[in-house]
Amino acid sequence: MKLSFDNSYAALPEAFFARQHPAPAPAPRLLAFNTALAQELGIEVEAGDDLAAIFSGNALPKGADPIAQAYAGHQFGGFSAQLGDGRAVLLGEVMDTNGARRDIALKGSGRTPFSRGGDGLAWMGPVLREYLLSEAMHALGVPTTRALAAVATGGEVVRPTGSMTGVLPGAVLTRVAASHLRVGTFQYFAARRMLPELETLFDYARARHAPQAAGPHEFLQSVIDRQAELVAHWLSLGFIHGVMNTDNTSISGETIDYGPCAFMDIYHPVTVYSSIDAHGRYAYDNQAAVIPWNMAQLASSLIPLMPDQEQAVQMFTTTVNAMPDRIEAAWLRRFAGKLGLGAPREGDQALIGDLLALMQAGQSDFTNTFRALSAGGAQDQFADRDGFAAWQARWHARLAAQGALEGTIEQARPNAQTRAAMEAVNPALIARNHRVEAMIEAAVAGDMAPFERLMRAYARPFEAQAEFADLARPPAASEVVGATYCGT
Ligand code: AMP
Ligand code: MG
Repeated sequence: MKLSFDNSYAALPEAFFARQHPAPAPAPRLLAFNTALAQELGIEVEAGDDLAAIFSGNALPKGADPIAQAYAGHQFGGFSAQLGDGRAVLLGEVMDTNGARRDIALKGSGRTPFSRGGDGLAWMGPVLREYLLSEAMHALGVPTTRALAAVATGGEVVRPTGSMTGVLPGAVLTRVAASHLRVGTFQYFAARRMLPELETLFDYARARHAPQAAGPHEFLQSVIDRQAELVAHWLSLGFIHGVMNTDNTSISGETIDYGPCAFMDIYHPVTVYSSIDAHGRYAYDNQAAVIPWNMAQLASSLIPLMPDQEQAVQMFTTTVNAMPDRIEAAWLRRFAGKLGLGAPREGDQALIGDLLALMQAGQSDFTNTFRALSAGGAQDQFADRDGFAAWQARWHARLAAQGALEGTIEQARPNAQTRAAMEAVNPALIARNHRVEAMIEAAVAGDMAPFERLMRAYARPFEAQAEFADLARPPAASEVVGATYCGT
C-alpha cells in the first residue's frame, strides 16, 4: 500500500501524548473500506495488501508512529483533568490530494495509558454506527470526521449495557479527521498551568486550523464561527450529537465522536436519545445553548496566553457572549433556505417558529415534513390541517413576494427553481435510528448487506431514489428506537 505519512503531532513535546502500539487483533476481517476517501488521502491500495491486517493495527504501514493523545474535558458539565485517547491511537498524518493535513487514527485498538478503567475496545455495533453516520453526515454536506475502514478483530468484547449486551464481536474503526485537537486539548494544559506547552499547542493549532489568526482572540473567534455554523447545520437536519462534552468538541469545526448521536424522526425540541443524558443537557434544541458554554471553556484556556489577563477576560467574554446571536443568524439562514426563502427577511423567524410549533403539536416527521413542502403532501404531516393551511397561506405569500411561487391560488407551490433549492437542503433520506439498529443486528449475525444498502442510499441523501423509498418512511410504533448508547 502506498501511504505517505507526514507526522507533525508526534514531533510535539512528550507531554502531548503517549507512544502506544495498537493491540494485536486475533483474526482480523475487513468489514468496510472507503475507496473514495482512500483516493482523496493519496492512499494507493496494491494487489496483495492485507487491509484487515493494516486497519486492525496488526500490520502498521511504513511511517506510522502510533500515539495516544492527552486531553481533558468537561463531561456533562463536570471537569476531568485527565481523559485522553483511552481506546484510540493516531497512526499519523497525511497530506491529502487537496493539500490538507488529515489524521488517520484507529479506534477500538486496545488499552492506552489513558484508558483508566476501560478495556480500550469497541464492538462492531458502535464501529459500524460511526462509519455509517459519519459518512451520511459527509454526504449531507456537514463538516465531519470520516470513516476509512472498519475491521472485525475476531476478538470478543463484553458490554453490560447498549443496544445489544453480553459478549459481542470486537471491531476497529479507522477515523480520518482534519485533526483530533479538541477544546479539551487546551483544557489539559491550561488546567495544569503548563504555559510553555499551552503556547506550543496554540502555535500548532493556529498553524493547522487558523493560520490567518493574529493571536488567541482571533483564533477563538474562528473556532466560534465554525462551531456556530456546525451546530446550526446539525439543527437544520434534526441531528442530535448526544454527547457534546468539551473533549468531543473539535477545534477544526468537524462533527466528532459519534456515540449516542441520532437524527430525530418526530419533531420535538427537547428530543434526547442518549441513555446517559438523564437531564437533557444535550437535547436537540439545547445544543445551541451548550456550544457557547463549551466555547467559554476554550476561551478560559486561552486566557493564560494573553499579556493582559484582565483585559483578555473582558474581550473573550464579549466574544463568547456574541455567539448566541451568531448561531441564531446561522440557524435563520439555514431554516429560511429549507423554506425556499433565500436571504432572510423581517418576519421569517416567526414564520419558521410557527411551522415548528405546528410540527411539534402534530408530531410531524422532521425530515419528511420539510421535504414534502417542495415535493408535495406536506398537509398529511399535520394533525391540525386548518392550522397548516393558514400557515401555508402565509408561506406562499412570502414566496410570492420574491417571485418564487407558481400556480393558481388554490394550487400554488414554490416554483421549479425554488423547489430545486429546497431539495438541495431538505434531505429525502436520513440515517434513521431503527434502520441503523437493524443494520447492526444483521452485521453481528454476519450479514453486511443491510450496511452496504444503507451506505449506498445515504450517499445521495438529497435525491428521491425510488429503490430506497422504504428508507424514507419513519419507524412504525413498534420499530421506534428510544435510546442510544455511547460506544463504550
Ligand atoms: P467518549 O464518551 O467516547 O468521548 O469517551 C470519554 C473518554 O473515555 C475518552 O477519554 C475515551 O477515550 C474513554 N473511553 C471510552 N470508552 C473507552 C473504553 N472502552 N476503554 C478505554 N477508554 C474509553
Ligand atoms: Mg470522545
